[in-house]
Amino acid sequence: MYDVIVVGGGVSGTALLWVLSHYSSAKRILFIERRKGVGMVNSNVTNNSQTLHKGDIESNYALDKALQVKWGADLLSAFVDEHLPHGKLVIPKQLIAVDHEIDELTTRFHAFKSHYPDIQLLDREGIAALEPKVMEGRDPNQKIASLYSPRGHAVNYHLLAEKFLELARQGGAEIDVLYNTSVQSIDRAAHGFNVKADGVIHSAKFVNVSAGSASLLFAHALGYEQDLALLPVAGSFYTNKRVGGLLQGKVYTMQNPKLPFAAVHGDPAVYNTDETRFGPTARPLPLLERDSWRTLAEFLDIGTITPRGIWSLLKIVCDPTIGKFAAWNMVFDLPWIGTHAFLRDARKIVPSLGIDDIMLDKGAGGVRGQPFSLVTGQIVKGRDRFIPKDAPIAFTLAPSPGASYCLGNAVELSRAIAERTSIQFDERRLLADLHPAM
Ligand SMILES: Cc1cc2nc3c(=O)[nH]c(=O)nc-3n(C[C@H](O)[C@H](O)[C@H](O)COP(=O)(O)OP(=O)(O)OC[C@H]3O[C@@H](n4cnc5c(N)ncnc54)[C@H](O)[C@@H]3O)c2cc1C
Repeated sequence: MYDVIVVGGGVSGTALLWVLSHYSSAKRILFIERRKGVGMVNSNVTNNSQTLHKGDIESNYALDKALQVKWGADLLSAFVDEHLPHGKLVIPKQLIAVDHEIDELTTRFHAFKSHYPDIQLLDREGIAALEPKVMEGRDPNQKIASLYSPRGHAVNYHLLAEKFLELARQGGAEIDVLYNTSVQSIDRAAHGFNVKADGVIHSAKFVNVSAGSASLLFAHALGYEQDLALLPVAGSFYTNKRVGGLLQGKVYTMQNPKLPFAAVHGDPAVYNTDETRFGPTARPLPLLERDSWRTLAEFLDIGTITPRGIWSLLKIVCDPTIGKFAAWNMVFDLPWIGTHAFLRDARKIVPSLGIDDIMLDKGAGGVRGQPFSLVTGQIVKGRDRFIPKDAPIAFTLAPSPGASYCLGNAVELSRAIAERTSIQFDERRLLADLHPAM
């Protein structure tokens, strides 16, 4: 019998492997992943925006949410600074605001400054000095300001997942790895749970399911989170592969708080700073994983295509802000017209961008599973992870916000494992190793 079984090898599952192997008394861990390696789905390098979100320039986070995000992000930036020299960039970040948005940006700056001492408020000249392309060709009558953070991180989350696993295998636990192995079912047992994978049953005291959106399927099968379904939303990226790098750092725009997804931003690719990426777009897709048609069946099983699910979706898109956003985003992936439509959004960042300067990065972009309530018919935020109180099991749909919180999530999961089993977790030592200031 295993102490812990970890299902899913993105950054969430592999971060937990690292934490458990180095900072817990777990001795035997089984790791099951259905792909041939780790970090191949949403954590893959071209499938996400590569940002390590710290909460300072994310205009949709209030201060309390931003500080929670910062806690996990500080852990991860300490980890990547020490262990991932070739899988990250340390680059500046800016949140730009125009015209009526500037008051909100200024208020945010004053409220956040004591918690994020590095941030600065930049005017037109300040922005032009750091990011000339953001000002080149911009309407001189448009008012503009930015919140600038000099030390942000771009992370190759695929390499990060590989690094977590590599280091986990050097820790105190023996880790059995099963690739190309799909978990079919999870059942309660006297000692914990049984996990059936490719017809073989494995037992553990605690099971962690970090299988992306598919985690909800396993939760449903065990009777949890029955009121939730998911809308898979694919995010695509445009790149400027043809004209060389445009931006020195990450440039975000102000976010509409009604929308669950980050507004379009532009930044240098973590693997090639000459390439500037713009995105992501947000288009509903009936697949849990973008490159895998077998996940169509999983999508059909997740509660979305039911009378209650369809009622909820209609209610969500009837909101004019969300409906308009969804319709506009549907256009972005279309040939020719999509690029023209997307250009309008990308020009909010680089106004001089021409139609020949960007192209759709085919094959890039992952799928975010947006939870919604089958009871209220509304988008649900903050329920992308569930740790039932009555059982030694946890389900992570995605750590919030995304990959940036994978270590914070792994620490919280390890606390839950220690509460529900005899496994001990030395959080104090982990924090001392990664985060001496805490
Ligand atoms: C367009 C886009 C942009 C994003 N930008 C950012 C960003 O800038 N910053 C950020 O922090 N986050 C971002 N995210 C979110 C981030 O990519 C995810 O939160 C993160 O990668 C999730 O990691 P994970 O390990 O939970 O899931 P994944 O990386 O998706 O891994 C899940 C794993 O589970 C496996 N699996 C599934 N089912 C089974 C099964 N039955 N049996 C065995 N294995 C199974 C899959 O094969 C996969 O390897 C973005 C996401 C998208 C889509």
